[in-house]
Amino acid sequence: MVLIVTTVSELRRQIGQLLREQPGAVGLVPTMGALHAGHLSLLRRCRSECSVTVVSIFVNPKQFGEQADLDNYPRTLEADSALCAAEDVDIIFAPSPAEVYPAGFSTSVHVGALTDRWEGEFRPGHFDGVATVVAKLFMMVMPERAYFGEKDFQQLAVVRRMAQDLNLPVEVIGCPTVREGAGLALSSRNVRLSPEDVQAARRISLALQRVQSFVLCGETESATLIEDARRHMLGTDGLLSIEYLAVVDPRDFRERRGPVQAGDRVITAVRCGAVRLIDNMELQPATAGAAGEQIQAGQATGTGP
Ligand code: AMP
Repeated sequence: MVLIVTTVSELRRQIGQLLREQPGAVGLVPTMGALHAGHLSLLRRCRSECSVTVVSIFVNPKQFGEQADLDNYPRTLEADSALCAAEDVDIIFAPSPAEVYPAGFSTSVHVGALTDRWEGEFRPGHFDGVATVVAKLFMMVMPERAYFGEKDFQQLAVVRRMAQDLNLPVEVIGCPTVREGAGLALSSRNVRLSPEDVQAARRISLALQRVQSFVLCGETESATLIEDARRHMLGTDGLLSIEYLAVVDPRDFRERRGPVQAGDRVITAVRCGAVRLIDNMELQPATAGAAGEQIQAGQATGTGP
C-alpha cells in the first residue's frame, strides 16, 4: 500500500518511521504527475537502489511561464496512486501549492550560465522555478539519491550543478529517455496531441536519430547535420514549428560549431499546436572500423544529408 501524504511534517514523520522498519537509503523521484512509462522507469530504478522510495507529485506553478500551460497540465492523482502502488512505492508526497509556497515565501534558487540558453531562453524563469522546487524537495525528503530523466537533459544538468554548488548531500542520477515504439519521447503533454499531431511529432525523434546516423557515417559538420534534421523534422504538413535545434557541448550547453565531438547532444524544442515538446540524443562518432561499415551502408541506400 502506498501512503499519500500532503504535508512536510507528515512526510518527515513517515520517512522516519519507514527508515526504522527498513533501514537504508532514501530515494526521491520528483514528478508533476500524469505518470507514464518514462516516470515508471525512474521509480523502478529508485526501488532497486534504495530502501525507501518517495515519489513527489507537484505541478509546480513557479516553473510555468504560460498560465494556460499550467491550467491545462494533466492532473491524475488517482491513476498515479494506482501506478505507484503497483510499483511498491512507499510514499507519494502530493503537497498543495500553499504547503510548498506558504504566504511570505520569497526565496529563489538561480543557477547561472547553464540556464542562459535554450530552455532558459525560451522559458524565462523556468529554471529558477525548477531549481527552487527541487532544492526544497531535497530539503524536505533528505534523499541520498534522486532520479531524473535525460529527456529533460538541460534540467538534469541544472539540478546536478545546483546540488554540487550548494553541497547538497544527494546523488543526482540521470535515467535514459523512454520512447513509444515509433520513437516519440513519452511526455505527460502527449495526451494533448491529436492523432495527426502524433504522426507529425514522431518526426522529432526521427530527425534526431538521423543526426546520429549521419555522425556514425562520418558526416560530423554540425551546421550540415542541423540543416538536414530541420528539413526532415518540419516535413510538409506545417504542423510543427521549431523553437531551437542545435548540437551542444553537454558540459556548458554552448552550441557546437564545426565538427561534432563524442558525447555532444543534439537538443530540440518543438511546438505542435499549443503543445510544446522537447527531446535530445547523445551523438557518438563511429570508431574507425564501424565508420567504414556505416558509410557503405549509407551509400548502398543513398541516404546522405
Ligand atoms: P515531469 O513529470 O514531466 O516533471 O517529469 C518528472 C521526471 O520524469 C523528470 O525527471 C523527467 O525528466 C522524467 N521523464 C519525463 N518523461 C520521461 C521519459 N520519456 N523518459 C524518462 N524520463 C522521463
